[in-house]
Amino acid sequence: MNFYSTNQKARPASFKEAIYQSLPPDNGLYFPETIPTIRKKVNPNLSLPEIGFEVMKPFAKDDLTSAELLHIVEDALNFSIPLIEVENNIHSLELFHGPTYAFKDVGARFLARCLSTFNTQSNREVTILVATSGDTGGAVASGFYKVPGVEVIILYPSGKVSELQEKQLTTLGENITALEVDGDFDACQSLVKSAFLDDDLKSAKNLSSANSINIARWIPQSIYYWWLSLQTGFDPNLVISVPSGNYGNIAAGLLAKKMGVPIKRFIAASNVNNVVPRYLETGKYLPTATIATYSNAMDVGNPSNFPRILELYGKAYTAIVQEISGGYLSDNETLDTMRSCLEKNNYQLDPHGAIGYQLLVDHLKEGETGAFLETAHPCKFLPVIHKINPTYTVPPFANNLLEKEKKSVKISHHFEEFKTFLLN
Ligand SMILES: *Cc1c(COP(=O)(O)O)cnc(C)c1O
Repeated sequence: MNFYSTNQKARPASFKEAIYQSLPPDNGLYFPETIPTIRKKVNPNLSLPEIGFEVMKPFAKDDLTSAELLHIVEDALNFSIPLIEVENNIHSLELFHGPTYAFKDVGARFLARCLSTFNTQSNREVTILVATSGDTGGAVASGFYKVPGVEVIILYPSGKVSELQEKQLTTLGENITALEVDGDFDACQSLVKSAFLDDDLKSAKNLSSANSINIARWIPQSIYYWWLSLQTGFDPNLVISVPSGNYGNIAAGLLAKKMGVPIKRFIAASNVNNVVPRYLETGKYLPTATIATYSNAMDVGNPSNFPRILELYGKAYTAIVQEISGGYLSDNETLDTMRSCLEKNNYQLDPHGAIGYQLLVDHLKEGETGAFLETAHPCKFLPVIHKINPTYTVPPFANNLLEKEKKSVKISHHFEEFKTFLLN
């Protein structure tokens, strides 16, 4: 299958080309030329990797053999994704049982294994550059850990990520190098952008990015919507609430619905960075500057995947609002939600999942079945959790990580220093 650019100016790319390029040259987003319907191929006895195979097959089949794809999904989806009933009719899809305790593991691991397979096919080596403000870098680093033919350089802002997040970036070693940049996230991002524009680097290295808008990170997220529906016996009244920031996760859910998963409707659950809920309310899309919140992985003022949502509905506002409603919580409301859910259900939400939970509870109607996505493990946001649950202790797996020794290379925010590092 080919992928076209939502800006319509770049030429269509194959699955493999779209993955290597990440972004089309016209700055749009890659989008599948057709949306396959696979409802008949998903039977209730399939395992998670088997569903992954059926979902990804129509997109990947020109560039990956069935054996290669099966191997990729089995290896990428090697952790459980349980559906837990938190209270009557409100279910949590726990997406945090992967190696970095966040749903981004699904897409990052799939992308890493695709690149590794392509590299083996053509015997080439790539260097992946990633700038991270926290969660993404950990998932990418872990996803690419020990993957042959791939070297990963992660840039993170010194002193601006949580302790657990820093340990996830800096304790792996092997093919993963963490650069601790004296500057903020924007400085990290601008170093990466300059590298992609630098001719010396372009001729010396095969540079690539593991950007979150890459189709190999976006589309595999559809897999767990099929999995969720299957756990409910393909309940046609299923309503899913998705904690959203860059809107890739919910766009993958909408894609799954178009592919035939019986989902009734979606709730776009946001924090005060509420550009999409306001669009759903008013029909006007007005990006804003980002506001810092407790659910910081959702602090996005201009969500990059929004054009994919428009594309899925032929840009028709009336069609979009029939299937998606939106809402948002303030930081105080997020804390209140975490506190009350803990008291009522003895279930510790993380600040992102809490927003998904509360908007589901508020918006669910008679006769509907509710599920929200728990996008990260609460232990990743310890200072916030301690505000409402002072006795919360991190689970043993997180403690082990905290005890590991950090290894990073300190650099300034000057491009020449970064360039010299890359060339040596
Ligand atoms: C990235 C992230 C989100 C937002 O997901 P999008 O696909 O960008 O909307 C939500 N919660 C957590 C914990 C995240 O890491």
